[in-house]
Amino acid sequence: MATRDRTQQHPLWTTPAVEALRAAPHTKVSEIDTKATPGFAGNKTDGEYMLEERGAVLSALQEMLYANGRSGDKRSVLLILQGMDTAGKGGMVRHVIGQVDPQGVDHTAFGVPTPEEKRHHYLWRINKALPRGGQLGVFDRSHYEDVLVVRVHNLVPPEVWGGRYQEINQFERELVYNGTTLVKVAMFVSLGEQKRRLAERLARRDKHWKYNPDDVTERALWPQYQEAYQAMLDRTSTDHAPWYVVPCDRKWYSRLAVTELMIDALSRLELDWPSAEYDIEVEKQRLARS
Ligand code: AMP
Ligand code: MG
Repeated sequence: MATRDRTQQHPLWTTPAVEALRAAPHTKVSEIDTKATPGFAGNKTDGEYMLEERGAVLSALQEMLYANGRSGDKRSVLLILQGMDTAGKGGMVRHVIGQVDPQGVDHTAFGVPTPEEKRHHYLWRINKALPRGGQLGVFDRSHYEDVLVVRVHNLVPPEVWGGRYQEINQFERELVYNGTTLVKVAMFVSLGEQKRRLAERLARRDKHWKYNPDDVTERALWPQYQEAYQAMLDRTSTDHAPWYVVPCDRKWYSRLAVTELMIDALSRLELDWPSAEYDIEVEKQRLARS
């Protein structure tokens, strides 16, 4: 099938992104080299060039997913982006997901729960935002905030957030069972790179809107966040929904890597164009006579 050729790995990928980035039992958050480019032997110029080329492949696959959804296929793909402030979640949406037709994209950013959301179970707002058949869902933050920020700030007692890991695994198992492929991306920047990016937000008028004074307060809690991210990887990277650990100091790499993860996820659906539900020859003749 044509898509198979188009989804083949480029030689600059010495190890496919799905293999190079998949969280392993020995993955240590404190030891992640955030400047590294796992599996990729090329440089920034190669990476930026390839992003465009691979973006076209991603776009074609996404269109096929959308077309199948229109024909009743219930399957969907959901990209979950988790990462500290300045990790580049917004840029990932713009530069990776921005390569595909927005009609088929269902994007949700999760902030501090609204008063209404607070009255419900933490998965309530997640359930409402799940992609329908044929859609490519994108979560900028997710239910994982409920074991990250919530854990670090003791927003609920430990016995409450402690039970959520299992609950999340169960929740995701059902999602996968019901036809949603999850692509869980944990984005990591270094403390130093975060400082540089926050400084840039302060230095540029067009970036002031992205700066939040609380981000500096949160920097003091870096070790606690690392611990929470470690627990998240240890306890919620499952066979049905593994985590991918993406170093994000080099934006060109992280964007290319996530493009590859998405191409892989969509390829696994083995999509094809839905066949016509009408007689093509008859329609050609009708059209010619019209
Ligand atoms: P941003 O992504 O920069 O717009 O920031 C969103 C903020 O909402 C972050 O500080 C998150 O930690 C916070 N947030 C997201 N989900 C939750 C949650 N469930 N409980 C508390 N804070 C949350
Ligand atoms: Mg922010």
